[in-house]
Parts: sequence; structure tokens; C-alpha cells
Amino acid sequence: EKLDKGMDKTRSSFMGKLNRLVRGKDTVDAALLDDLEELLVTSDVGVDTTLDIIDHIEERVARDQYVSTEELNAMIREEIAMLMLDTEDERPADFDAELPNKPHVVMVVGVNGVGKTTTIGKMAHRYKQAGKSVLMGAGDTFRAAAIEQLEIWSERADVPMIKQKHGSDPAAVAFDTIEAAVARDSDVVLIDTAGRLHTKGGLMDELSKMKRIMSRKVPDAPHEVLLVLDASTGQNAIRQAEEFTKSVDVTGLALTKLDGTAKGGVVIGVSHQFQVPVKYIGVGEGLDDLQVFDRKGFVEALFG
Ligand code: GDP
Repeated sequence: EKLDKGMDKTRSSFMGKLNRLVRGKDTVDAALLDDLEELLVTSDVGVDTTLDIIDHIEERVARDQYVSTEELNAMIREEIAMLMLDTEDERPADFDAELPNKPHVVMVVGVNGVGKTTTIGKMAHRYKQAGKSVLMGAGDTFRAAAIEQLEIWSERADVPMIKQKHGSDPAAVAFDTIEAAVARDSDVVLIDTAGRLHTKGGLMDELSKMKRIMSRKVPDAPHEVLLVLDASTGQNAIRQAEEFTKSVDVTGLALTKLDGTAKGGVVIGVSHQFQVPVKYIGVGEGLDDLQVFDRKGFVEALFG
């Protein structure tokens, strides 16, 4: 239900335009496919993904000769569902699922303002509700307010947090956090990281160093590198995904702020284009406004 609500604007915009496209037509022709292509691109699905969808539909139209606009609707649905990667890898997104590692270490990355801190808070809450012990690490030591913001979420979710003072080495915070998690026998570790954009090179080096030091303490940690993207920024989110996936091994995506945006189409393109599964979506500012991504549910919410 929350997903339905979160997808409201995207749905009404996408479906409204799609309905206008096919109104008065009964078969799919080249002109309609051109219009569909434009609709998908302007719905922030992304050019690469749009071209793939259109190619497949074109093949089908060429093969079947006659394709009704009703069939087109079903085809678009199928294509979209198919292009989105499944989240069924060895890193369960489901908060109730048994975790393959103890502690299960998640490093959360992304540009400032995308909703990183909020997502960590929501995840902590959900893991805790599922009966797991969680430890947070305040790894954004660069931004003055970042530590306090995470602290607010740590109180809200009632989950402990490891911090050092502003300006200290983020890799040292990561190390401390992992060490504390091992000592406390925590189930899940959520590490925040810096998201400054203006010194990008430095940031990517910092993230690599954090990763390296964590794996010294717990083999294979971090088990998940979760990239948080703000869906409402559309193509900006795609560009950020490009930057981060180039430099750090991103294993999953969290798309935030789907509520209140018509740009939900970005969820489809970003996963397909970078071959990284969408794990979570944010549909509000509260503790409970995080959902484990389910592509079937997403497509259903999109088509209403
Ligand atoms: P950070 O800089 O990446 O850590 O971003 P924050 O977690 O501080 O979030 C920035 C702003 O986005 C805050 O005002 C959050 O309340 C808001 N926000 C985060 N996630 C969502 C979401 O899913 N929906 C909405 N509507 N707002 C969100």
C-alpha cells in the first residue's frame, strides 16, 4: 500500500502519457513506437534501457505483424519486469532473512543529501524489529553535522552507534565499529560514509581504504556496498551510479524519495544499466518508510 502511494506521481504521469499515446489507435505502428520511446526517455527510464525495450517490442511487432495497443501495454510491463534485475543474490535484502555472515557488514555510500543517513536509520529499525542486533558507525567524519544526524537516527531506531570526533579518519571509525561489533557479537553493522562531491577522487580513495581496513577485521567485509540514490533527481541519479560503480564495487542500490516524484522510472533504468540490483526503496521520511524492493510489486504499482 505504501508502495502504491509512493508510486502515485510516477504512475499518474507515466500511465496518463501512455494512455494519451494509444488513445484512438488500435495497432502499434512505427509512429507509436517513436512516441513510446520518447515517453520512456522523458520518464527517466534512461536511454540505454529505453532502446532495449523498444528493440524488443519492435521485434515482436515485426514478427506478429499485428499488435494491438492492449497487447502493447502487456508487452511494456513484461519488458520492464524482465529488465530489472532480481535481488536474489547471496546478500538478502529481506530484513527477516538469515544473514550469511556475522557480523553482516553493510557500507552505505552516496552523495550528500540523497538520504543516506535516513536510509541507515530505517534499515537499523527494520533489522532490529526482525530481532537482529545492529551497530551503526558514523563514517562521515568530514561533514560537521553528519555525526549528529546519524546520532538522531540511532536514538530513533534505538540502536547503538560508534563515533569519533569530526575530522578523524573515517577508516579508523570503520575499524572501531567492526571491532566493537565483533566484541558485542552484533548481527549487522551499518557504516555511514562521506558524500562530498567536490573532491570526488579523494572520496573514492577514502571508501577503498575503509573497505580494506574492514576486511582485515572480518574477512569479505563489507558484504554489501549499498549505493543510495535520490530517485527524484532523475538523470543525476544515473550519473552518480556511473561514478560510484566505476570506483567501488557497489553490490546493491537504495532508491529514495520515490514518494512525491514522478521520476520513479529511474528505478528501472539504473538497475538495468549498471547491472546492480535495487534492494530498497524509500517512500517517505519516517522510520517505517523503507521497503524491500520487489520488482513485481513495483511493476504492479507502476501500472496500477
Ligand atoms: P544524506 O545527506 O544522504 O545523509 O541525506 P539525509 O538522510 O539527511 O536526507 C536528506 C533529506 O531527504 C532529509 O530531509 C530526509 O528526510 C529526506 N529523505 C530521505 N529519504 C526520503 C524518502 O524516502 N522520502 C522523502 N520524502 N524524503 C526522504
